[in-house]
Amino acid sequence: MPDRPYVIDKLISAKSIAARIEALSHEIEAEFAGTKKLTVVGLLRGSFVFIADLVRELDLPVEVDFVETSSYGNSTESSREVRILKDLRGDIEGRDVLVVEDIVDTGHTLFHVLNLLNSRRPHKLRTIALLDKPSRREADIRADWTGFEIPDEFVVGYGIDFAQRNRNLPYIGKVRFTEG
Ligand code: 5GP
Ligand code: MG
Repeated sequence: MPDRPYVIDKLISAKSIAARIEALSHEIEAEFAGTKKLTVVGLLRGSFVFIADLVRELDLPVEVDFVETSSYGNSTESSREVRILKDLRGDIEGRDVLVVEDIVDTGHTLFHVLNLLNSRRPHKLRTIALLDKPSRREADIRADWTGFEIPDEFVVGYGIDFAQRNRNLPYIGKVRFTEG
């Protein structure tokens, strides 16, 4: 829990993240080449830093929108129940859409959000996740693009929190509890 003392061990540097986003941005540009408008949908709140860096690498006409789903709360345990706390502002029917997720863990969040957005009949719907924990997967889903595969560790930084803290770290680190 948040009041237990912990340290953060660096897992992925800011430089590695930037280089990976730059590489992935070219693949996304190729996939959506010629689009009149790409709606980039960030899943709040963990993707806010990632989406900010990603859209600045995309040489495409981009709009940004957000969805917020229920999260882990203050625990490190996943929950299978996914609720929409905040829906898109805009209509995506007939649109090109890129969903941006911080971490695909069990996959329930992305599975649920993709079903919801697909039901609105977008023209093309693709997904990108900064991090993937394949060993944790329960739902049959994977992002079209993944920044980094990571082991089953609880991570923070680069927008990702532990009980709302550590989102402002410029790198990804893993939480390690210390005695105290
Ligand atoms: P899911 O299990 O549905 O794939 O993941 C749901 C959400 O749990 C992710 O979008 C992410 O916000 C959060 N999550 C998964 N793994 C971690 C982690 O290691 N650290 C933090 N802070 N959140 C995580
Ligand atoms: Mg998330």
